Amino acid sequence: MPKTKKHSLELLNYYKSFGVESHIQNTPRIRFKNCLCPKNQKELLENQLKNLKKKIINLDCELKLKAKNFVFFDGTLASDIMIIGEAPGYEEDKLGKPFVGAAGKKLDEMINAIELDRKKNVYITNIVPWRPPKNRTPTDNEINFFLPYVEKHISIIKPKILLLFGNVASKSILNLKEGITKNHGKWLNYKNPFLKKKIFTTCIFHPSYLLRSPDKKKIAWEDLKKVKEKIINLKIAL
Ligand code: URA
Repeated sequence: MPKTKKHSLELLNYYKSFGVESHIQNTPRIRFKNCLCPKNQKELLENQLKNLKKKIINLDCELKLKAKNFVFFDGTLASDIMIIGEAPGYEEDKLGKPFVGAAGKKLDEMINAIELDRKKNVYITNIVPWRPPKNRTPTDNEINFFLPYVEKHISIIKPKILLLFGNVASKSILNLKEGITKNHGKWLNYKNPFLKKKIFTTCIFHPSYLLRSPDKKKIAWEDLKKVKEKIINLKIAL
C-alpha cells in the first residue's frame, strides 16, 4: 500500500477510536506532504497541474476560440524560481509553449546570464494562456478573468522567488497602481491567497520591451543582478 494511503488510513482509524463518524471539509487536505518522497511529490505536482489545466481549458472565453493552442507552462516543475509573462505571441500560439519566439530567446539570454535555465531551475508561465488576436495587450477584463487561475498556479509551484516580466504581470499580480517603470528592481512581498508565506517578488522589464528599447538593457541587467543576489542570500540551490 502506498505510504500516504497507509498514513491516511491510520489517521482515520485513530479518529474512529474517539468515536468520530464523519469528517466534513470542502477541499482535501494533504497531511503527509512532508512525508512524500520526491517521486510522489512530482506526481502530486503533475496531478495538481493537470487539474488546473483542465479547469482553465474548460473556461468559457473568447480568446480560446481565436487561438491555435493553449499555452500553459514551460521549464522545470520543482523550481524555486517562477517567471510570469504576459500572454503568448505568434510562435507561442503555434507551439503551445510560453516564450519560444524572439522574446523567448531574449528571456533565455537574460536569465542565463544569472545562471537560470528553463531546463534546470526555472518554471515559466503567462497571465493569459491564449494568444490575444494580433498580439494585442490583454484587456483588464481578460487579465482579471485569468488572475485567480494564475494565483492557483503560483500556489501549486510555491516558488521562493517570483519574477514578473513586464507591466501586465507586475501590475496584475501585485495589484500595483504605478507601472513597471516605477517598480522594477524592488523587492516586494507578494501574498498569494492560497499560501501562508509571502513570496519575494520583483518586476523586470519585458524582453519584448528590451528588443524595442535596447537602451534599457543596462537597467534590466542591474535588476537581474539583484535577483542573483537574492538567490545567494536565500541559499537557493540552482
Ligand atoms: N510574451 C509573453 O509575455 N509571453 C510569451 O509567452 C511570449 C511573449
